[in-house]
Amino acid sequence: MNYNGFFAAALSQLKDEGNYRVFADLERHCGSFPNATNRGNDTGDVTIWCSNDYLGMGQHPDVLAAMHDALDKVGAGAGGTRNISGTTHDHVLLEAELADLHGKEAALLFTSGYVSNWAALGTLAAKIPDCLVLSDALNHASMIEGIRHSKADRQIWRHNDLAHLEELLAAQPLDRPKLIAFESVYSMDGDIAPIAAICDLADKYNAMTYLDEVHAVGLYGPRGGGIAEREGLMDRLTVIEGTLGKAFGVMGGYIAASANLCDFIRSFASGFIFTTALPPAVAAGATASIRHLKSSRAERAAQKAKVTELRARLDAIGIPHLDNPSHIIPVMVGDPVKCKYLSDILMRDYGIYIQPINYPTVPKGTERLRITPSPVHSDADIEHLVGALETLWAQCQLARLPVAAQ
Ligand SMILES: *Cc1c(COP(=O)(O)O)cnc(C)c1O
Repeated sequence: MNYNGFFAAALSQLKDEGNYRVFADLERHCGSFPNATNRGNDTGDVTIWCSNDYLGMGQHPDVLAAMHDALDKVGAGAGGTRNISGTTHDHVLLEAELADLHGKEAALLFTSGYVSNWAALGTLAAKIPDCLVLSDALNHASMIEGIRHSKADRQIWRHNDLAHLEELLAAQPLDRPKLIAFESVYSMDGDIAPIAAICDLADKYNAMTYLDEVHAVGLYGPRGGGIAEREGLMDRLTVIEGTLGKAFGVMGGYIAASANLCDFIRSFASGFIFTTALPPAVAAGATASIRHLKSSRAERAAQKAKVTELRARLDAIGIPHLDNPSHIIPVMVGDPVKCKYLSDILMRDYGIYIQPINYPTVPKGTERLRITPSPVHSDADIEHLVGALETLWAQCQLARLPVAAQ
C-alpha cells in the first residue's frame, strides 16, 4: 500500500468537502483577553469570538497568582500518576472544592473533561452487571466513546425527547441496572435538557443519571455549579461531570458523586489510574477560579448582558441565529464552504476570529459560526463584529430573516 498516498487522498477529500480543519495559531495577550496576535499569517491583532474560556477566567489575576505561587512552591509536573507519587495537596484541595461546588460527598479529577467522560462512563457501564446505557442522541464524542468502550448495551434516545426516553426505559425490567447519560447545555445548539423530568423518569424506572455540565459549570447557578444548581437538582443526579478548561479557564475534568462511586472509579478506571496527574499549578489555578466564581456573580451577569446585546443586534439586521436559553449564539450558514470562507474573511479583513463549525461536529447542512460573547468583549468589539457580519452577509448573498418593524 502507498501509505502516504492514502493519507493525502483522505485529506484532499476533506478539503474538497470544505471540512478540512485549519488551526488558528494565536498568541493571547495576558490581561487583555479576548485580544490575540495571529502568528499563523500576517493579519496581526485579532479579537477572539469563539473561545470556551467563557468568562475570561484564563486571565483572571487570582487564577494567575495561584498558578505562579504553586509553580514557585512545588515546581512543574506532578511527577507521576495519582497512585504513584502524583497526588499533591493541590489535587486534594481541588477535589474538596469540586465536591462542595456540586453538593456531593466526593469528586474525582481527571486530566481533561474528555477523559473524565470516557473513563467514568466506560467504567460504570462496563463494571455494573448487565447495565443498559441510555444515551441522548446529541451527546458529546467523549461520552459516546466511553459508552462504546464499555461494550455495554446501549440505546440512543432522540435528543431531549422525554417520551422516547420513557418508552425505552419502560421496555426494560425494572430491576435491570440502567444509566441515563445526557448533557445540560448542548454546546452546538445551546439548548438545555429537561433535567428535572429526566430525574423523575430515572426515579420511576430505577435508573442512575450521568449529567455532563461542561458548558454550564462556572456559568449558571448562584455559585457557578451549573444548570442543576440553578434548578435545585444537584442532589437528584447520580453523577455530575464537568471541565476545568472552559468557563474555569484552566484545564482538567472531573466527576462529582457519592464517596463510594468516586472511590469505585478511582479504583477501577484505567483512564484515571494509568496517567500522570495534572500539574499542581494547574490544580491550584482551577481551585482559585472555582472559589472566585462561587462568590462573584459579576462575571456571569456581565456575560449575560453581552449575550443579550449581541442577539438583539443580530436580530436587528436579520442575521439568522438559533434561539436558545443559553450563552451560545450559533449563527447559521448551512454550507461548509461558505462557512469556512466567512471565517477566513472575518479573520483576514476584520481581525475577527470565529472558527467555522462544520461536519462532523454538526450535521451537514447546519454549518455555523458559533459565537460566545464574554464579559470582556467591549461595546466596540460588538459594533465591529455586527458591522462585519452585515457586510459579509450581503457579499455572500446569504439568507436573512425579515426584520421586525421597529
Ligand atoms: C469540551 C467538552 C468535553 C471535554 O472537556 P475537555 O475538558 O475539553 O476535555 C466534554 N463534554 C462536552 C459536552 C464538551 O463540549
